[in-house]
Amino acid sequence: MKRLFLWLCLCLVGLVAWAGEPPRVILIGPPGAGKGTQARYLSEKYHLSHISTGDILRENRKQGTELGQKAAAYMDSGKLVPDDLIVSMVAEKLEGDGGFVLDGFPRSEAQAVLLDTMLAKAGHPINSVILLEVKDNDLVERLSLRRSCPTCQRTYHLKSNPPKKEGLCDVDGTALIQRPDDKEDVIRNRLRVYHEQTEPVLRHYATAPGVVKIDGQLGIEEVQRRVDEALGAPVAP
Ligand code: ADP
Ligand code: AMP
Ligand code: ZN
Repeated sequence: MKRLFLWLCLCLVGLVAWAGEPPRVILIGPPGAGKGTQARYLSEKYHLSHISTGDILRENRKQGTELGQKAAAYMDSGKLVPDDLIVSMVAEKLEGDGGFVLDGFPRSEAQAVLLDTMLAKAGHPINSVILLEVKDNDLVERLSLRRSCPTCQRTYHLKSNPPKKEGLCDVDGTALIQRPDDKEDVIRNRLRVYHEQTEPVLRHYATAPGVVKIDGQLGIEEVQRRVDEALGAPVAP
């Protein structure tokens, strides 16, 4: 009882603190680390805008836009889409002063520098950088067994996080698909690109306020608990 009371007080203090400054979060990590899974959790729990550059690009491809057409070949081979295309695409999503969680961006040092400049101009700097760490071999297994919903973009895993009805999204019943870039040869290329081009972003934010590393190999719920903690949110005892 006493513990519960203490926790409720902490919640209240946390919520008051958050009322001043909404979370502006970068979720960073290799492909398959669980960024989308955790970003969706955060955006639903704290009403943050979930900005996934991969999802925006896939939507552009579906709609056949010029951006989608330009991005297609890069995505299919696991390369990064050029920075100028990505940054102008993200800029419009960052307008306004609400909280957000960035999933899959920034992915190069140039993108990180441009993001910092944009946010500094708006007076809304990033206040949390969360790195999800998972070993390469586990990532290959995770991505090979990932299935995605083309309607709501939720992801499932055939073993660790299967849908309730085989092959169908729990939320909207859409038939799940395997992304064309979730095949082993493209996965290996995406991991190479991560180590070469995205790891410098970790060094870029190494001394930023609110940087936390989380073991992404833990179960989804334990990672969620640690992500909450990283945001300074009150977590259940
Ligand atoms: P990312 O957005 O970083 O590419 P996802 O969130 O799509 O990664 O997760 C990749 C795959 O791993 C999905 O199949 C997802 O269900 C599964 N997954 C996510 N987090 C975990 C976890 N903590 N433990 C086991 N599997 C996970
Ligand atoms: P994701 O859904 O995050 O795994 O991204 C899928 C693909 O979209 C990547 O392999 C890249 O080709 C492209 N992409 C997504 N985000 C970015 C980004 N920030 N910079 C460059 N390319 C990106
Ligand atoms: Zn769905």
